[in-house]
Amino acid sequence: MLMTATRLLDAIMHLLYPAVCISCERLLAENERFICSSCDADLDRFLLPNESTDLMMNTLNENFPSQTAIDDALSHYFFHKGGKFQALAHGIKYDGLSELAVAQGELLGRVVAEERPTATFDAIVPMPLHKLKFIERGYNQAERIAAGISRLLSVPVKSLVERTRYTSSQTGFDLRGRMTNMKDAFVCPTPFSDKRLLLVDDIFTTGSTLCSCARALKQSGAAHITIATLAVASS
Ligand SMILES: [Zn+2]
Repeated sequence: MLMTATRLLDAIMHLLYPAVCISCERLLAENERFICSSCDADLDRFLLPNESTDLMMNTLNENFPSQTAIDDALSHYFFHKGGKFQALAHGIKYDGLSELAVAQGELLGRVVAEERPTATFDAIVPMPLHKLKFIERGYNQAERIAAGISRLLSVPVKSLVERTRYTSSQTGFDLRGRMTNMKDAFVCPTPFSDKRLLLVDDIFTTGSTLCSCARALKQSGAAHITIATLAVASS
């Protein structure tokens, strides 16, 4: 009964406020959310198994040969400039579509489950936003993505790490500058021990921010860290 009422309400809302695809702006069908099936089919997904892992771990090894904080890495899409993922990223980051972030988190959770069927995680940790950025944006997109993964994997989301200071945008820094910019940018307020963590962010670029955050988590007691991002940006 409740289900029928919800469906009916959905149908009425659809008639009153027809949703459009965030990429091509065509009217969405009733069973489509945020993105039409044709644009969705054009998203560049990584091949299973491990295409994303290979790319991310190779990038980390090239950029930060001495890093040992990140043990494993997974991602869903390859992010080309001007490609279909750009509209998704923009919607999540700047248009306030927090439900889109949750929906994409669920899809990323499915990738994690398929790629690592025997892996266990004690907690899903969203990449923290500085308070000022949180106020500016109204929500932390990584936290919404983590909530979506949590729904799928039934692992709790825990904010184990915080930003200590407002770091300027990483854009425009070279690799060395990026690492200096991020140095000591994270702190874990409560110590923990022996935790296997899934550290979540929206986009992996050079890996410097994730690396720095993972290092703080390892120093505070993480035993194993897998990073999961919606996409990997082509550099
Ligand atoms: Zn479309």
